[in-house]
Amino acid sequence: MGRRGRIRGIVRDALDFILEVSKSYHPHEFIGLLSADGDVISDVILLPGMLSSDRNASIRMDMMPLGISYVGSVHNHPGSGAARPSTQDLFIFARTGNCHIITFYPYDSDCWRCYDSRGEERELKILED
Ligand code: ZN
Repeated sequence: MGRRGRIRGIVRDALDFILEVSKSYHPHEFIGLLSADGDVISDVILLPGMLSSDRNASIRMDMMPLGISYVGSVHNHPGSGAARPSTQDLFIFARTGNCHIITFYPYDSDCWRCYDSRGEERELKILED
């Protein structure tokens, strides 16, 4: 992970992709990494091998892919309206960048929140290009 400036937004295609993946994994969890082009999140790297069997997605830090530049993480919460980061989420947030998206059922266009590395909700603009 290189040094990057503050992320200001996410391209709509990437957010749509995140919500589609969330739907397709439901009721299971998935987890991925967010990569950025400049100060805008433009890509999602899914980490399917890190899906655990107990319905809690988790990143094992020793299994993080090498050579991938990322600015944060993304995962879903299958429970309706449950976007608050868990204790385990906060552990991951503190170690994987400063921009963390949690989606939640039913994964409509507004069923997501973004948090910083401390788990504080933060703004993330949706950019059309
Ligand atoms: Zn979570």
